[in-house]
Amino acid sequence: MSGDQLSPAARAKKFGAAEGDGIVRCDACPVLCRIRPGRSGACARYANEAGQLVRTDPVVLMARTIDANGKLVAFAGSAWDGAPLDAARTFVTGIGAGTTYPDYKPAPFIVSAEHAGVDTVTVVTEGIFSYCGVKVKIDTDRNLGPETAPVRVNGEQVGHVTTAEYGSQMLSIGGVRHLTGGSKKEGTVTCDTLLKLCSGAPVAMRIDGGHALIVEAGKAPIVDGNEEVRMRVGCGSAAVGMFARQWLGLLDEVIVLDDHITGVLTEHQSGRVLAMPPAGIRVRGRRSTPGRYFKVAEPGLGWGGTDITDPLSIIQRIDAKVAWPGLRLLLTSTTGEDALYCVLDASLQPVPAPMPAAVAAVIQRIGENCEPALCSVVFMAGAGGSLRAGVTENPILLTRSVASGATRVTMGGAPVTVWPGGGITIMVDVTRMPKQAFGFVPTPAIVAPIEFTLARSLYQRLGGHVADIVSIDDVIGTLSPQARIDGWQDDNPWPFVPGKPEPA
Ligand code: SF4
Repeated sequence: MSGDQLSPAARAKKFGAAEGDGIVRCDACPVLCRIRPGRSGACARYANEAGQLVRTDPVVLMARTIDANGKLVAFAGSAWDGAPLDAARTFVTGIGAGTTYPDYKPAPFIVSAEHAGVDTVTVVTEGIFSYCGVKVKIDTDRNLGPETAPVRVNGEQVGHVTTAEYGSQMLSIGGVRHLTGGSKKEGTVTCDTLLKLCSGAPVAMRIDGGHALIVEAGKAPIVDGNEEVRMRVGCGSAAVGMFARQWLGLLDEVIVLDDHITGVLTEHQSGRVLAMPPAGIRVRGRRSTPGRYFKVAEPGLGWGGTDITDPLSIIQRIDAKVAWPGLRLLLTSTTGEDALYCVLDASLQPVPAPMPAAVAAVIQRIGENCEPALCSVVFMAGAGGSLRAGVTENPILLTRSVASGATRVTMGGAPVTVWPGGGITIMVDVTRMPKQAFGFVPTPAIVAPIEFTLARSLYQRLGGHVADIVSIDDVIGTLSPQARIDGWQDDNPWPFVPGKPEPA
């Protein structure tokens, strides 16, 4: 493969066939669009330019530069200054590279480069992922809806509520069943939702039996119109343990309300170790272990993810043999956003009172220890036939090489997590990828960049398409005038660090 074959028209032509009236048939995916001159295909990724099929988006090259201290860094402000690119510091991403269909075609770019004295190959393509979705982590204490409840966009089910994690509610959005197994509208809305989430756009969702959400990668979640601010410092039990020593001497009892594990200080091991006397205040719910209570209320948008808006309602009874008038009681949520200070009166009823400054300082400390509430979006997909056959004629060897760590996988240069077990099932944080990295085809499926980097000698042994290898110098010389040049994201590892040795 020579540098001449890298021009956008030449690359696209690899996938197109001319028909009558200047129409070009695009065969870069199973839709097989017939595209008239001056028009683009159904996905807008390919167009007919004067009878030639062209890829409409530029290829994205990522490059690093050297700072005043000799360290490799991204361009200042990630803006390329137009200087010639250095082959040793340039990475060809799959963004804008084009796809391979049907499966046996070699990937659009198979790029050779030398790094640290090792001849490497990076196989670059845009994968068409029918088996894909996103996992969304929403940092919130509030109950967004029942586990397994459908998540809807424009009335269509696009996913479901999955487990609650520590301080977060997880959603599973997309997946092959919603893309292909329901109505055409369900598939289209699911694909559009995935594309927006992966591209960092906000998406309005509604959970059956739950609440309305706006989800945007890297931004605070919005629940029923209210922006979430803090991610909890811990569960109720953890909060009691973390701050017990700071409350000692200021309070006689602390109850940290939490939908999952409510903590009661004097019963809790931390209160006992600090020799706090029992306060005789029994909270509702099921006692799990000393000072730790489950199911104190129904889930909701109130204190600590419960439906409680009057915190004193959590008190089931006060033992007159144990409690005493003047007992100082604090009730707080796990973020410190809700807090109430009370003193027991002569009839042992809790009476709200002004919060002492020292107690308020600990509440403020809880808030300081909360992290900002965010939505995290992780794209998850399986690399299928076209992808693997585009890399090597014997795809199982690639699968084994990825599993062993000898072949490094990136998406738009961002590192991926490869699931153990069979196949190549990967996950990537979409905020670590370049802008406009994702696309779609109306089958429906998501299009995403993927790159496989490995030693050239290994590539040959895997049965790689060695006749299609092109040098990085040719790629830069031919493509950089039309390419989009992005600065490398400094927090992403450089993919050319040698992968693990091959297993014997
Ligand atoms: S949807 Fe896009 S990739 Fe698929 S055939 Fe049409 S133009 Fe080509």
